[in-house]
Amino acid sequence: MSKLEDIVSLCKRRGFVFPGSDVYGGFAGTWDFGPLGVILKKNLMDAWWHYFVEERDDMYGVDAAILMNPRTWEASGHTATFADPLVECKECKSRFRADKIADGITESVTTEEFLNTHTKCPVCGKENWGPIRKFNMMFTTHVGAVLPDDDAELASKNIAYLRPETAQGIFVNYKNVVDTIYPSLPFGIAQQGKAFRNEISPRDFILRDRECSQMEIEYFVAPDTWEENFEKMRGLQHDFLEKVVGLPAESIHEYEVPAGDRAHYSKRTIDFMFDYPNGSEELMGLAYRTVFDLNNIQRESGKSMEYRDKQTGETFVPHVIEPSVGVERLFLAVLASAYCEDEIDGNKRIVLKFPENLAPYKYCVSPLLKNKPELVEKARVVYEQLKQKYTFVTWDDSGNIGKRYRKQDEIGTPKCVVIDFDTLDDDTVTVRDRDTTEQVRIEIAKL
Ligand SMILES: [Zn+2]
Repeated sequence: MSKLEDIVSLCKRRGFVFPGSDVYGGFAGTWDFGPLGVILKKNLMDAWWHYFVEERDDMYGVDAAILMNPRTWEASGHTATFADPLVECKECKSRFRADKIADGITESVTTEEFLNTHTKCPVCGKENWGPIRKFNMMFTTHVGAVLPDDDAELASKNIAYLRPETAQGIFVNYKNVVDTIYPSLPFGIAQQGKAFRNEISPRDFILRDRECSQMEIEYFVAPDTWEENFEKMRGLQHDFLEKVVGLPAESIHEYEVPAGDRAHYSKRTIDFMFDYPNGSEELMGLAYRTVFDLNNIQRESGKSMEYRDKQTGETFVPHVIEPSVGVERLFLAVLASAYCEDEIDGNKRIVLKFPENLAPYKYCVSPLLKNKPELVEKARVVYEQLKQKYTFVTWDDSGNIGKRYRKQDEIGTPKCVVIDFDTLDDDTVTVRDRDTTEQVRIEIAKL
């Protein structure tokens, strides 16, 4: 098994991530977070929010609706250009994203360029392709009472999209925030939430899924200061990824996206690539979106998006720097970095070496023997104390101590606390360290 398969298997076995709608055989491109995955995901989202919003004086949060006025996507260009190159095999009718099955081409590939790569169909092995077609990745839905037998025109009037990015929920609220908070430039608006993309071929576990959670900031700056603010944001992303969530710096690589490959709105983009088990993939993006979005909204809505400088009285439309990270991508990067297999006294073990601030549980408490009421009673007292202090504490009295340690190693619990007969005499406990497996005696009061 590859390391990614090992991680997928561990995620299912220990309740981090299940295939979406698992009981019905799954649903392509969807994944469900289980009891431990929910805690890890929330820890990651909270760490981001704390670092980028709560600890700063220049950031404000919004939580916009997923369903937005369809004019949003006309103005942003998504209706016209949010598309992947779709190619169909004429032999077996399988459909693929052209740039994912052929080497050396990009999303803007033409039919001719694709045919020149002489790619064979990954399903049937033949080389008989139809033309490249642009496939829009936005999910459509209907708003209001639209019946299946209503005519196409009526149905098209009621079309809405599941948002393909959270960014537009921020842009449409820019004016509301300016008019209620009166922030000074530069300032940012942050949002966390779901986004939806109808990927042609979802794959690589939670890396390329059809429904994901994003964490985005639109940082509004005076036009002539975009470069210094871009550099500032660039530094903050490294700081967050390496110091706050503990990803190894040597696994993160910046990729300066060339003009032809950048999203339609961007004048400069750096992709922060991460060495995932199956290869290097985008973890987060930093884009200079210029005045693209606010200008579009101004044109489409007829409302001014101008900002008046408090000192000079000068008015202008601010420019935008956007750091954007996918929660699932960050989740998998953290899991892959934490995942280790080693050997303890000749026994193989799997251990997730999460940084303490991210581990689902900080402590596991257990009585040495579950059939000794005095040990269980004392352990319950210690458990309640630690639970009050640290919240994320788990209880385990199943199997023998060795099995409990294995299980806690697999879910990344940094410390296991065991209550034994000595505890009853001197109020000390055995604390076993996840990474070193060393055991020390500590007074309960010092935990
Ligand atoms: Zn085929």
